[in-house]
Amino acid sequence: MITKRTDTRSWEHTQPLRARDRVRAKAVDAIPWWYSPWGHLAFPSLVGLGLIATALSLLHEPTWREWLTVPIVLVLVNLNEWSVHRNILHQRTWPLETLFWRHTPEHHVIFVRDDMAMRATREFRLVLIPFYGILAIFLSSLPVTATLWLLVSPNVALLWVATTMGYVVAYEWLHLAYHLPESNPIARTGLVRLLRRHHAVHHTPELMQRWNFNVTVPLADWLLGTVYRG
Ligand SMILES: [Zn+2]
Ligand SMILES: [Zn+2]
Repeated sequence: MITKRTDTRSWEHTQPLRARDRVRAKAVDAIPWWYSPWGHLAFPSLVGLGLIATALSLLHEPTWREWLTVPIVLVLVNLNEWSVHRNILHQRTWPLETLFWRHTPEHHVIFVRDDMAMRATREFRLVLIPFYGILAIFLSSLPVTATLWLLVSPNVALLWVATTMGYVVAYEWLHLAYHLPESNPIARTGLVRLLRRHHAVHHTPELMQRWNFNVTVPLADWLLGTVYRG
């Protein structure tokens, strides 16, 4: 992967509502007529939960040491989330530049700290990763799965699949929850409110290139010193 230097300064200030609404209207207009917001949410959820159920059903008497795979992988994928968000969603990186264009000049211009809410279910499209993302993550991590299966144990490989897929589903659900209207009962739960505060700071355009890159639990931000304390 090659990072291309990009001048992001023009997006690093909060644009007036009229300008943000123009970007929003253009993004919403580009959504194809056949787009189904509930289908977009259901696909990664069902694929993820299905792979978790399959992996867990194939476990064969895992030892407590093998169960340690779960916390270890959770920490590693949390660091990976930080790195992908910082280096691929906020920098143009070949061949995944489309992720940058959908994130920094679009997601971050439309949703800002004090205006985080989606206005319609069609706007799921502006928040969720592409529907095939979870399959792409599963397939591209198969070399790791195979290596663990062959060199460590099938149980560890299965727990790796279950943990990574669970993480992707949690990422999608949490990120969507942060962008719900504040009156929504899911948005009002304590956990979502607590975690949303961290993501809302990241939605300050002046701060987004440097702070609060975790979208789920801000562990990597804490470890790497990128929790904003201004
Ligand atoms: Zn967001
Ligand atoms: Zn971001």
